[in-house]
Amino acid sequence: MLTCDAYHRPRTLAEALALWADAPEGSRLVSGATDIYPWARDGRAGDVHLPAMIDLSGIGELRGYGFGKGRLHLAAGTVYQDFLTDPVLRQNLPCMPHVAIWFADDQIREVATLAGNLVNASPVADGTPAVVALNGAIELARLEDGEIRRRTVEIEEFIHGPGRTAIRKGEIATQVTLDTCCGYGGAFQKVGQRRSLVISVACCAALVRTDPEGRTFEDVRLALGGVGPGPMRLREAERMLRGERVEPEAILRAAHGAADRVASRSRLDYRREVVVNFVRAALEEALANRPNRAAAHDQSKETMANA
Ligand SMILES: Cc1cc2nc3c(=O)[nH]c(=O)nc-3n(C[C@H](O)[C@H](O)[C@H](O)COP(=O)(O)OP(=O)(O)OC[C@H]3O[C@@H](n4cnc5c(N)ncnc54)[C@H](O)[C@@H]3O)c2cc1C
Repeated sequence: MLTCDAYHRPRTLAEALALWADAPEGSRLVSGATDIYPWARDGRAGDVHLPAMIDLSGIGELRGYGFGKGRLHLAAGTVYQDFLTDPVLRQNLPCMPHVAIWFADDQIREVATLAGNLVNASPVADGTPAVVALNGAIELARLEDGEIRRRTVEIEEFIHGPGRTAIRKGEIATQVTLDTCCGYGGAFQKVGQRRSLVISVACCAALVRTDPEGRTFEDVRLALGGVGPGPMRLREAERMLRGERVEPEAILRAAHGAADRVASRSRLDYRREVVVNFVRAALEEALANRPNRAAAHDQSKETMANA
């Protein structure tokens, strides 16, 4: 059972930061609480009593999104259901609706935040590989001499290992910033049982842009989750495909290149086959999901004009 001495629901970021700065040791922040509640309820952490819980879900500044310098700035309260229902997010983050489809169920998606998923830093979190493929970064805010100070950390630097991140005492995640990838095809592949936290659980996010005829790879983004302590960007496989013709042989070569890297790190050969199949399937799915280029270009211009 989860109990606490004080439950706060601040309305502004400044109020939340002040509460968090003064919170007794052992207090916790919550957004959707979909990691925190089961952690206590399922007995994984035994009976948990917290001095204070600070619920961030009522803070208006932590909802919504905006564009800037080719990047999409998602407020930390963005929930997984938004990636399915918001047409602008679907168009600009083409792998995220595929992540969301695989993510939990309708009820959990309505409250589970992307920021909570990143801060929780599970090695099998679905969001992290997709965020890494989108060159994601997280903004962290804290109070210093009564002023709100912010810093931004790349997600690959932010996640240090299972449950370990670069977040510092007194900080609250306020934003996740991602590349806009309008015109790309997106995909997400996932296998295994999330809760088992075993190494056979893995996922792969892919983004692919080709020339208008679909003959050549112009850009490829690939990242794996569940094969190591944190998400793994497959830069070598991406380089192998950029400028290559869109052919099954090229895809297979890149998939084997990705598997070499994973197998040599983990020394577990059986993952090789999983990774080869994963990467190949993700690339093929992303190719199949490419939007019509001309229509995507027009939509993108319209989105930017309205943003
Ligand atoms: C039934 C069920 C199914 C699930 N399925 C999946 C799945 O398919 N894939 C998957 O990846 N996950 C899954 N999850 C896990 C969970 O839903 C996700 O990790 C979710 O994204 C966490 O977000 P949250 O807002 O609920 O986080 P919370 O539980 O509120 O918080 C998680 C952690 O992040 C911290 N935190 C939250 N917000 C902030 C912030 N703004 N700043 C700083 N720290 C913060 C909290 O202190 C806590 O340590 C599932 C959970 C359940 C209960």
